[in-house]
Amino acid sequence: MTAARGSDRMQANVFREVNRFGIEEIERPHAGPGEAVVRVTLTTICGTDLHIVRGEYPVAPGLVIGHEPVGVIAELGEGVTGYTVGERVLVGAITPCGHGAGYQAIGGWRMGNTLNGAQAEYVRIPFAQANLAPIPAELSDEQVVLLADIASTGFSGAESGGVRIGDAVVVYAQGPIGLCATVGARLMGASLVIGVDGDDRRLAMALRMGADVGLWPTYALGLIPYPTAAHRALMIQGFEHSFVPGGPQVARAQGAPSAARAWGRPAPCRHVRSGAGIVRPPPVRRGRRSTPRVARSPSCRSG
Ligand SMILES: [Zn+2]
Repeated sequence: MTAARGSDRMQANVFREVNRFGIEEIERPHAGPGEAVVRVTLTTICGTDLHIVRGEYPVAPGLVIGHEPVGVIAELGEGVTGYTVGERVLVGAITPCGHGAGYQAIGGWRMGNTLNGAQAEYVRIPFAQANLAPIPAELSDEQVVLLADIASTGFSGAESGGVRIGDAVVVYAQGPIGLCATVGARLMGASLVIGVDGDDRRLAMALRMGADVGLWPTYALGLIPYPTAAHRALMIQGFEHSFVPGGPQVARAQGAPSAARAWGRPAPCRHVRSGAGIVRPPPVRRGRRSTPRVARSPSCRSG
């Protein structure tokens, strides 16, 4: 965005009502005690923002949305120490108070939810002492922006799935969050990681980031033959669960490399390894729906 130099106004993406939002000129924020104002240099459009504009997650009309900022400190409020104006910082989507107990200590989601968010030239950061992370000079904004929310969301998928050493894991959708769930599963010791997506570029990235197998979801819908019986068993049982809104699902197959067991219905999957690499569906016949269409999921698009 263009800086509003010499002005107390700024441009921001303002939510007005369901499916009505856009860039408006509004008052620029200033830092109160314990707060900071960051001049945003890079941010994201999160799947959560899409939920907001579609009315699937209600916020107040007039709110600036966005919650994943990278930027430069523009103002520091009273009591915030150890930072300097002009310092490059990353701000996490969840902003704990940094002390005490309860909701504020845990860090609720505020930016772009109950407070004006990051899709703006400037964003006010609550509890700034605990929520500004200086960025090393050798790292670019693009290299760190995933750490504001996306990486931790993906990692937490692996954590909440309870992945343990030797497990087999299926990660549905290999968008930014899904890729981070794939990395998370690998870091937690999974011996077999299967990334599912309908986009070859995403599957190629999944293989680079730790997946053993990249699999098209088309197989799950039964429109085309599965490459192996093991794939069929895996995908039929797994894909039912992938249609839960809210991002990628990570499943754990306890004790044996059988991803299907993650859903409580044991099935042999020992041949899945032989299909390592991207498994593409064969060409779709005329008159049938295209594979990207049938692969689409109502889950959060960012996943
Ligand atoms: Zn987000």
